[in-house]
Amino acid sequence: MDSLTELNHQAAGHPDCMQTVDGSLFAKLTTQQEIDFYNAFQQERQGEIEEEIDDERIRLQDWMPVYIGNLVCGVTKELEQTGQVDEKILKAARDVEPVMNNLQQGNDNKQYILLENLLYGYNKPSILDIKLGSKLYDSFASDSKRQRLEKVSQETTSGSLNFRICGMKILSNEIPQITLQSNIPINEVIEIDNSGQDTYLAFNKYFGRGLTKDTIKDGLKIFFLNNNLEHMIQKKILQNFHTRLILLYNCLLEEKIESISSSLLFIFENDIQRWKSLDYNDPVMADSPFLNEQEEEEEEDTQEETNRQLSRLALIDFAHSKKLDPTDPRKYDENIVKGIHSLIETISEILDEIS
Ligand code: ADP
Ligand code: MN
Repeated sequence: MDSLTELNHQAAGHPDCMQTVDGSLFAKLTTQQEIDFYNAFQQERQGEIEEEIDDERIRLQDWMPVYIGNLVCGVTKELEQTGQVDEKILKAARDVEPVMNNLQQGNDNKQYILLENLLYGYNKPSILDIKLGSKLYDSFASDSKRQRLEKVSQETTSGSLNFRICGMKILSNEIPQITLQSNIPINEVIEIDNSGQDTYLAFNKYFGRGLTKDTIKDGLKIFFLNNNLEHMIQKKILQNFHTRLILLYNCLLEEKIESISSSLLFIFENDIQRWKSLDYNDPVMADSPFLNEQEEEEEEDTQEETNRQLSRLALIDFAHSKKLDPTDPRKYDENIVKGIHSLIETISEILDEIS
């Protein structure tokens, strides 16, 4: 097995996300609830395949990273004791253990979730994490957590628009001018990251918390427009995300779920060579480079391009999400659907402005 290294680029969240050395898989500490959520969708799909229900409709699962499985730290006692497992495999598993232990940092018995790395195939990705919903705590939250999150919601666009910029990382060396609430200095929310080949700007959570419903559009414009891509490409990216958000919105209206504190992850390519080599063609829905390719072999071509996407929208972070019982009176998750609706409106406004 490939060992794990630090994730190349991260938009928000806990700082200990990992990827496999070849870059194809993503790993992070998770909760049983998140694993259950992914499993529920995988089982539902499995059921449909068995019943040969093969309609072409877009499913909520199509907006989620491919779920590979989960990892627990080290080797189980049962496995050691049975003596059935080859010594070489046990050794490989024990080799991973210190890495995992190191990652655990006191989080005993926590599990890691292994997902498709959504950044795989991108050369110079910009990434944006938008947290959905105005209600940010579930029924398990302690009183103090509930109070803290209620306050965050009230004071940010989470409350007014049902979405908030949680963090972003853009390829740029130009620090943008932006007005934030309560005079937060810009250098406290943006950090220049020169650790790789390119210069990135990392916007922390206080950037998004400092935006209001009157300045949120300016915040999003930094993500979509503060880069060296041609106008035509910037417009295409915005149009594609606009279309994807509408499709996802429709999927969500069909799903009985409760998703607290999940995020939308936006990714786009800044490497103009990749845009050229794919003829500026960025499909709205592309098959994940992970899933079986469908009869494409005859088609061209000489380039070995595994990832045919130049931008992507995904729904992530299900530590506080669940699929609801069919008898539950709620039809869909209004808390996040509203957020996607206001995001669609804001992106429409940006599109109008740049056209
Ligand atoms: P948490 O917020 O609980 O730390 P998230 O699931 O939101 O966990 O992940 C944190 C960050 O990791 C996201 O903001 C995103 O940048 C990155 N990330 C999450 N899932 C993936 C994935 N499948 N592929 C690539 N990056 C991811
Ligand atoms: Mn998150």
